[in-house]
Amino acid sequence: MNSSERFASIDDLDSESKYLVHKAKEATHHSYSPYSKFQVGAALILDDNTIITGANQENASYPLCMCAERVALYSLGAQFPEKKIVKMAVVAHKKNHKELTTAAPCGACRQVLVEYEQRQQSKIQILFMTDEMAWLKYPDAESLLPGSFRQEHLLL
Ligand SMILES: [Zn+2]
Repeated sequence: MNSSERFASIDDLDSESKYLVHKAKEATHHSYSPYSKFQVGAALILDDNTIITGANQENASYPLCMCAERVALYSLGAQFPEKKIVKMAVVAHKKNHKELTTAAPCGACRQVLVEYEQRQQSKIQILFMTDEMAWLKYPDAESLLPGSFRQEHLLL
């Protein structure tokens, strides 16, 4: 299994990753999270350097809430289905707090990432902050969700 790279500080990331984290932070401004007050932003960089962002969207009917990652991924799917995602950054902070808190993608988002990776037939790097304020960069979605359910399983 592919393992993640760990960076002790955001300053240790490459410039593209730092920029993507910056775009993910900006995206948190569009979070609609009156219930959790947990503002999440995701940013994708595509193979032509286009940036697509998403922010979590909540609803009074709680099960309808949507994660920032899937808002960004489905936005890409709806607008630029032919383009490939190179990397995704995810960040979060509590409302009215500037400092970031950890925002590991949930299982559902990992499942969706795996299928986007399968569709585009190339790896998607995934970057997020740990509890210790370090950054983890995973080489692909598959390494975040080994043994995932895949479209070929529907055909067995
Ligand atoms: Zn999620």
